[in-house]
Amino acid sequence: KPVILWLRRDLRLHDHPAMVAAAKDGAPVICVFIHDEIVAQTGAAAKWRWGEAIASFAARLEEIGSRLILRRGEALEVLQALVKETGAEAVHWSRAYDPASTARDKAVKTALKEEGIEAQSHKGHLMFEPWDVTTGKGEPYKVYTPYWNAVKGRGVEPPCDTVSALEPPQTWPESETLDDWQMGAAMRCGAAVLAQYACIGEASAQGRMAAFLGQKIDGYKTARDQVDQNGTSNLSENLTYGEISPRSLWHAGWSRMEAGSAGAETFLKELVWREFAWHLLYHFPKLDHANWREEWNGFEWRRDNNEAEDWRRGRTGEPFVDAAMREMFVTGQMHNRARMIVASYLTKHLLTDWRVGLRWFEDCLTDWDPASNAMGWQWVAGCGPDASPYFRIFNPATQAEKFDPKGSYRRKWIAEGAKNPPQTALHYFEAIPKSWEMTPDDRYPDPLVDLKAGREKALAAYERHRNG
Ligand code: FAD
Repeated sequence: KPVILWLRRDLRLHDHPAMVAAAKDGAPVICVFIHDEIVAQTGAAAKWRWGEAIASFAARLEEIGSRLILRRGEALEVLQALVKETGAEAVHWSRAYDPASTARDKAVKTALKEEGIEAQSHKGHLMFEPWDVTTGKGEPYKVYTPYWNAVKGRGVEPPCDTVSALEPPQTWPESETLDDWQMGAAMRCGAAVLAQYACIGEASAQGRMAAFLGQKIDGYKTARDQVDQNGTSNLSENLTYGEISPRSLWHAGWSRMEAGSAGAETFLKELVWREFAWHLLYHFPKLDHANWREEWNGFEWRRDNNEAEDWRRGRTGEPFVDAAMREMFVTGQMHNRARMIVASYLTKHLLTDWRVGLRWFEDCLTDWDPASNAMGWQWVAGCGPDASPYFRIFNPATQAEKFDPKGSYRRKWIAEGAKNPPQTALHYFEAIPKSWEMTPDDRYPDPLVDLKAGREKALAAYERHRNG
């Protein structure tokens, strides 16, 4: 009897415990991706990118004699229908950890089991299950360093073998097409520009990993902060859709660390930041919508406003901030240091609620990850677990001197005022909607706020809040 493998953010053949379990005993496997409410609500760029990941994975399945069935609808109803059509006796999937997905998956598991169908979830998206890592008191961790200390010596299971064949069913169930789904429909100007910067699919992800291990990992510790260097792995995009497994990255990094690579331990620590973010979101579901520290409730952050709109459009007049915002709009990604700087500028210099920024990132990032995004925003805003203290206000100008000393990052993304702007900077004007009325020939805007005055205003607001 066939077995159903429900794919979500695990679009790969390597290190896929749910796929290995489904294929065990040589049962025919029916792979399905369900376009449900959770997929429908994904931000514009991430949804487009998810569609590309699905297309690439479907082609990969064809190479091994299988197929990806696409169905739209409520997950349980789709699975029940498929079970009925195919006579499948089991459904397997890789676990998800955000509140909406865990609620959905729990309901699916209960209902299928009641109908006598085997329903099994598996590890795959994370190295450490959120419930497996607890303090001595049996509580979840709230601070990164003790979390890192708790997991670093645990050992991570080796990746499982890459699946090289899946037994097909006697007849394939009907499938919708990706064209039916229009995954890029919410993109403001279509995805043509973004597509030039994306690195889609399992094979590309493996290539990126090899390039990182071959050329960058040794210098990663220092290069990772320089926005003018491509010193990081860029693998967040692939991790988000499960085109590469965190375990395979961990083991590659670990062996480089043992071989004496100075950057490898830093890389492992970053992978664990991702785990920590999921640990937090799983245990504290409010992470993505409410101040984690309640003493921040009532702080005078402004709701959405005109300056925040200028921030979104990359025209604050602060070149580092604008370069970063444009980088994200064009490529779907932004350097980690730049993410911290633009988030600090919005929440402090512009005194705007961190959730305004969180939502814009959610709409623009192709590596959007609900846990890392929420943790990052709350960390910078000062209201999150293990957060940077509020009074640590990044100055975009001095940050630029340090991390973009020759100005190449800013030149790469800002066309106004440049004699021969690079293609990257011009791409921005292809990607934005006409209604923004911006052209490369415009005069570059004056700063929205004086950096010193903005900083003092933010600190004064903080003092007022602390003093009640
Ligand atoms: P590398 O430096 O090569 O690191 C390797 C991997 O470690 C990354 O791919 C990522 O999975 C993980 N990692 C690295 N830094 C962090 C971090 N600070 N937090 C959590 N995991 C980390 N990351 C996302 O994947 N999706 C998001 O939506 C996201 N939103 C963010 C929002 C803000 C405000 C901030 C400050 C950070 C955010 N991050 C997010 C974290 C980080 O910026 C990105 O993971 C990183 O820039 C990805 O680039 P990379 O793959 O080259 O990272």
